[in-house]
Parts: sequence; structure tokens; C-alpha cells
Amino acid sequence: MQYTDKVLEHFMNPRNIGEIPDADGVGTIGSEECGDMIQVWIKVSDEHLADIKYKVFGCPAAIACCSMMTELAMGKHLDDVSELTDEQVADALGGLPVHKYHCSNLAASVLHKAIMNYVFKSAVKANTVTITTLVDNNASESIGAEHGLSLWLEYGDKRILFDTGQSDLLMRNAKELSVNLAEADAIVISHGHYDHTGGLSDVLELNPRAVIYIHPAAIKSKYSCKDSKIRSIGMPEAAKQAVKNYKAIWTEKPLQLCNGVTLTGQIPRKNDFEDVGGAFFVDESCYTPDNLLDDQALFIKSPNGLIVVFGCAHSGVVNTLNYVTKLTGQDRIYAVIGGMHLLNASLERIEYTIEAFRQYQVQKIGPCHCTGVKAIEKFKEVFPDRCFICSVGTRINL
Ligand SMILES: [Zn+2]
Ligand SMILES: [Zn+2]
Repeated sequence: MQYTDKVLEHFMNPRNIGEIPDADGVGTIGSEECGDMIQVWIKVSDEHLADIKYKVFGCPAAIACCSMMTELAMGKHLDDVSELTDEQVADALGGLPVHKYHCSNLAASVLHKAIMNYVFKSAVKANTVTITTLVDNNASESIGAEHGLSLWLEYGDKRILFDTGQSDLLMRNAKELSVNLAEADAIVISHGHYDHTGGLSDVLELNPRAVIYIHPAAIKSKYSCKDSKIRSIGMPEAAKQAVKNYKAIWTEKPLQLCNGVTLTGQIPRKNDFEDVGGAFFVDESCYTPDNLLDDQALFIKSPNGLIVVFGCAHSGVVNTLNYVTKLTGQDRIYAVIGGMHLLNASLERIEYTIEAFRQYQVQKIGPCHCTGVKAIEKFKEVFPDRCFICSVGTRINL
């Protein structure tokens, strides 16, 4: 068996041996024939191989081939690296004994695997929408719940906090669920009720760079009158101050938050079967009704279709979906998630809502927060395979 000097030199001093802990792509290969095992880690920057490391268990030829493979590929564009062949590796080593050619084959193949892994991972990163429920009325026993809503949206490299619950529970649950609120680029406030805005000041203290997206009517006084009991249900003072002190963008009109993610702003009320869902007023004497013009939804154009996120849907689920399809020109909606405020809704209104889900061929339905048991049961009955639970801790990929 004759190894060239080049093979022996690379075998004695292998280049780039090691591991990259935060690699962008990883590939593993093994040969049953000779028992060689190779694992490769790559780091990619601007579509070029910024770093390659490997660990190898094998003969001198396998070690030398890996070492040479890294020398040939380092710094090159991914397109060029994908074309790197086993012959090129063997040639660069001045040739290999015939029965050792499979070693060069392994080295080239494992690199291609790592690149495929990188391509796959970045496609997943760019495309999927992950929604984690941080605050909701329901939770499994190990984590806290309260009447309120907060959802964590991950879309590509964007992180959006949608509503903030009613208390500091958001901060505790985020920690518990390993969600880093300091990464939030945007905080969307669906409307100015206390159960969506209570955690706002805490989050901004932690993450002052996050931009708040809110309708101007959200910061107005808000009251409810139930069984002749009057309650102030608007934003807590600290949240109102936070809107003043940090960067806030008013969203009366539709607004693109980032590529693929849009806020509806104020939602037109077009039908006569949807109301705001309760006895809400702008004054303490409960004289002037609060039409909750501040209510807004968020929608994402995902590869699977449109995803619509509600806070409480005080404008009405049907009004909201009609508006989103009008804005986007789409006639289908892939998923809906959030509070749908059908607690006090008539059966007729629930039926109309179901009809809208049918019309738009909604595939995933995640009712939570203020949707109400009656409506949720009805949705489950009509769409048993499409409804999903989104209590605290639920993490769903859409
Ligand atoms: Zn509300
Ligand atoms: Zn609510």
C-alpha cells in the first residue's frame, strides 16, 4: 500500500479538526465497508463557507481526505463547494491507493450532506410560523393562567409579541417556556383592554428597543357595565406611560410590520350580526358605548396560506376575516388563532362564524382566551380535525 507524501503529511498534520458548536449545517457519514465515521460542521456567511470543522474515525486516507476537503472548500461559494468531487480531493492529495478511493468519496459526500442540512434549516427558518401561547385563560397545571392573552410569534428572523396579558404573569411564563422577550422586535397591542396590556410596561423595561404597534383609541378610558357593576377595564397607567415613553407606531390603517406580516388597523364593521361582544363604554357613567375602534388583528402570509391572529376580535371574527381577505385579495385562510369573544354570542352568530370558516376553507382553528366554551364546543363538533388547543405553553408550527 503506497500513500503519497501529501497524504502522509495531511495525516500527520490534519487541518481544521474540531467541532463548531453553533454550526449552520451538520453532516454525518459512515462506511460499513471499512468502519470509517466522519462528522462535519459548517458555518455559512453570505452563501460562502466561513468555517468547516470535522471529526473523523478512520484510516490515514480518511483523515487526509477530510483535511484536504476542508482546504479545498474553505471560503468558497456554496455552489462551488456543492460541485466538489471525490476525484478533486484524491487528485489534490496526489492520488490514493485504489482500495482507498472510497475515503475521498466519503469526505466529499459528508460535506454535501452538511450543505443540504444548512439549506434545509434555512428554508425552515425562513418559512415556518411558530406561535407560542404565553398567557391565556387556561393552562396545564404546571404553569400559570389568567384571564388575558399573549402570543409569541416567530416568523423567519422576526420575533413579535402579540398582546401582553393582564399582569406580570407574562414575564414568568416567558421564562418558564424559554421565550426570550428581549428578542422581540415588535409588540402588537390588539386593543386597549387591561387583559391585553397589563404586561406591556414590564416587557419594555426588559426590551426598550421593541416597537409598540397600537391604535390611538387603545389608550382612551374604557369601562364595562355588568349586572349594574361598573368597572374600569382600560390600559393600566404604567402601560399608557410606556406607550408615551417608548417608540410607538399608531395603527389606524393597515400597516406592514415586516415582510409578510401586516396589521389590519381599524376593522370595518359591515354586518349586523356581530357586535363588540359586551357592555363596553368610554365613560364612567356608562352612557357612551365603546365601539372598540382600536381592535386590530394581525395576519401573516405563510407558504401554507394566510394566518390570522386575533386579540379579542371585538370587531367580529367574520368582519375581520372578510377584511383580511379583501386586503390581501386571497379567498382562502389557512389558520386562525386567538380570542374570538363569542362568550355572549347567539347561536346564530356562532353559525355565521362557522360559515365563514367554511367559506375560507380554514384548516387550523385555535380559539382561546375569550372565545367561550359554547363556541369552542361547536367549532370542535363541526371541525373535529381542524380545531386545536392553544392554552398556555402550546407551541404550534403553522
Ligand atoms: Zn377585550
Ligand atoms: Zn380579552
